[in-house]
Amino acid sequence: MKNKTEKALPKMMSGSVHKQFVRCGKTTCRCARGELHGAYYYYFKRVNGKLSKRYLKPHEVKQMQAACLAWREEKRAGRAHSRETWRLIRKMSARLRDVLKQVSFTGD
Ligand SMILES: [Zn+2]
Repeated sequence: MKNKTEKALPKMMSGSVHKQFVRCGKTTCRCARGELHGAYYYYFKRVNGKLSKRYLKPHEVKQMQAACLAWREEKRAGRAHSRETWRLIRKMSARLRDVLKQVSFTGD
């Protein structure tokens, strides 16, 4: 059974979309004189160190670009978030050290 509606693309995706111009190889074609065919869009993703490439249909391009951008934004936000968390932890532990110092001084 095949679904009538096309499978929705994910909202977020790692990887990136790149535009490429290609040469078909025919010596009589305009691309042989430097007028390459395209642009064609491809989705690139690195899986276990290997780069995989998938041709994107024209209607997929915008959505995939948005999904890749969303992923990058998400990752950047995540990094910023963890930086802020670490800054807080360092601040807290410094304060805790001060408190402990005071406690041990007054305790004696
Ligand atoms: Zn050609």
